[in-house]
This record gives sequence, structure tokens and C-alpha cells, in this order.
Amino acid sequence: MSKKKIAFFDAKDYDIASFDEANKDGNFAIKYFDTKLTKDTVKLAKGYDAVCVFVNDTVDKKVIDALEKKGVKLVALRCAGYNNVNVKHAAGRVGVVRVPAYSPYAVAEHAMSLLLTSIRRIHKAYIRTKDFNFSLNGLMGFDLHGKTVGVVGTGKIGRVFMDICRGFGMNVIAYDKFPVKDAGIEYVELDEIWKRSDIISFHCPLTDETYHMVDAKSIKEMKKGVVLVNTSRGALIDAEALLKGIRTRHIGAACLDVYEEEADVFFEDRSGHIFEDDTLARLISMPNVIVTSHQAFLTKEALTNIANTTLSNIRDYLETGKSENEVRIE
Ligand code: NAD
Repeated sequence: MSKKKIAFFDAKDYDIASFDEANKDGNFAIKYFDTKLTKDTVKLAKGYDAVCVFVNDTVDKKVIDALEKKGVKLVALRCAGYNNVNVKHAAGRVGVVRVPAYSPYAVAEHAMSLLLTSIRRIHKAYIRTKDFNFSLNGLMGFDLHGKTVGVVGTGKIGRVFMDICRGFGMNVIAYDKFPVKDAGIEYVELDEIWKRSDIISFHCPLTDETYHMVDAKSIKEMKKGVVLVNTSRGALIDAEALLKGIRTRHIGAACLDVYEEEADVFFEDRSGHIFEDDTLARLISMPNVIVTSHQAFLTKEALTNIANTTLSNIRDYLETGKSENEVRIE
């Protein structure tokens, strides 16, 4: 077989390192582009067999039509979520594959890191002691032991997160549209998650149904002082409503690895720029909001698995027209 050509969009140093390692036998010709895939950059894909994309690349109707026209056969997502791909439109035009699991531990452990950092005020303490300020005023936290955590989405990541929470002696309740049978999970309806939880952590995909599931109405139903943890997709939470909930003190804290308008901001160094997104700037300015830049997946183990699975997805699909990790609308 001749070497298959991959146009790799939004390439970062850590992507290049892990994919070069996975491709050390040189089976693929990979061209790394640091630009994202959009309708304006899709022309770069001409002459390639596959494009490899990440969470903030755009794979809408226009881009899919352009890819098909250029003879590209496959969109290989190097992530699990595929809300940025119009899968319905892709059907019969280009294949779509993804990496359904690479390390649920990476994401679940990051969610717990954010939660602990937030409630034990580590983000504040770190800066204080760097400046030789050893005061404890304002750093009081609370025990996780005995608190109720509501987990929305009990798939691979949600279940690892629940195990971690149980290790802390927390009461775990969960909501899932498709509950897992006999898994020893206490499933409740969503409104009960809102009412009973001291902490709510999101691990479900972004769909039409889950879009803005946290909005002004659901926030009103939540306990005063609730801590929200989102490592799933930003648009599960209406950021304006969240900001309002923080300002009115109804929400105790928010830990965000994702943000609904993250596409033009996250993964990039914006430190020298005038920051245009007032909502995100205001959220970041709050002492009880922690933002990481869609970092939850970023472990050595996860990157290795992502690179290996993506390349085998591409090989399988281009050689046989099939892949076990194909994304299809049922
Ligand atoms: P998964 O497919 O194993 O689990 C998702 C769960 O959500 C399933 O149990 C499913 O039944 C449930 N679900 C589907 N629709 C729902 C709805 N309307 N309401 C409630 N639950 C619903 O996925 P996973 O590997 O656990 O990943 C979960 C999410 O985490 C992904 O969709 C992705 O958006 C996000 N993610 C983020 C990062 C990161 O770096 N921040 C990395 C990987 C995944």
C-alpha cells in the first residue's frame, strides 16, 4: 500500500510528538498544519486521503462538501466528542472516525483536581505562598466526605469520577438518559440532581438535548452554594446564567475545563492581547471560578492512546472502508 497522506489540523507540539512516535515506522505521510480546519483553510486538504481534527475544528456542511470535492475520504477526530462534525451531512460523502476512549482517568482525575483546588482554595494559597504571604484568612474550605455529588452522564469518564468520589466518602447520585443496569448506581431524575447535590459534575455529550442544561431555570433549582464542575463540553452551561449565579452567590464555585465560546480562545496564548470575551473575562476574575483550557485529556497515557487509535482508525478505514470507531447517525 502506498503511504496514506494525512492533513493534520490545529497541530500543537504535544500532538506532533505523540503522532510522530506512533508513526515511527513511517507508514503515514503526515503534514502538520497549525491552523484549524475551517471553510477558509479546507483548501489545504487537497491531495490528502484524510484530515485529522480536534475539538475546535469546524466540520460543517460547507467544509464536508469541500472535503468531498477535494477527494478527501475521511475525517479522523483525535478526540471522543464529535459535536463539531455534521455527521448527518457527512454520511455518504466522507467517513468520520473518532477515539471513543483514550483515558477516562485523565479526564476524571482532572475533574477531581479542579474540585479539590477550588474548595480547598489551593489556587489562592499557591499564589500567596509564592509571595511569602502565609496568612490563612479567606482560605477556609469544606470536607468532601459526606457531601452529595450529582454526576450527569455515567459513561466511561462519569463512572471513573464516581469511583474517585466514593473513595472520598461522598454520597453519589447520578442521572443518565440511558442508565447502566445493575451497576450499583443510584440513578435519579435531573431535577433531583439539581435539588440534592452539593457538587454537580458533567460527563455527558453535548447534544441538542443537553445544550444549556444549566441555565437560569435549573440554577434556581440547585442548592445555594452548589459547586459545578464541567469537563465535558462548554455549551452544557449557559455561561451568562452561570455568571449571574456566581454574582448572586447562588453558585458557590465553578470549575470549568470547557467553555461554550472556547473555540477562538482555548489552546492559544492570548496573554498579549486585549481580551474580547467579557463573559469569560468576568468569570475568570471571580475568586471562586477556576478555568483550565480544555486540558483534562492532557496526560502522557491519553496522548499515546489517542495517536495509536487515530492512526489505526485511519488505516482500517482507508484500507477496508470500515472502522470499529466510525461515527454514524443510527
Ligand atoms: P461516554 O459515551 O462513555 O459517556 C457519555 C454518557 O452520557 C453515556 O452514559 C450516555 O448515556 C450519557 N448521555 C447521553 N445523552 C445524555 C443526556 N441527554 N443526558 C444525560 N446523559 C446522557 O463518554 P465519555 O468518554 O465518558 O465522555 C463524556 C464527555 O466528556 C464527552 O462527550 C466529551 O464531551 C467529554 N470529554 C472531555 C474531555 C476534555 O479534555 N475536557 C476529554 C474527553 C471527553
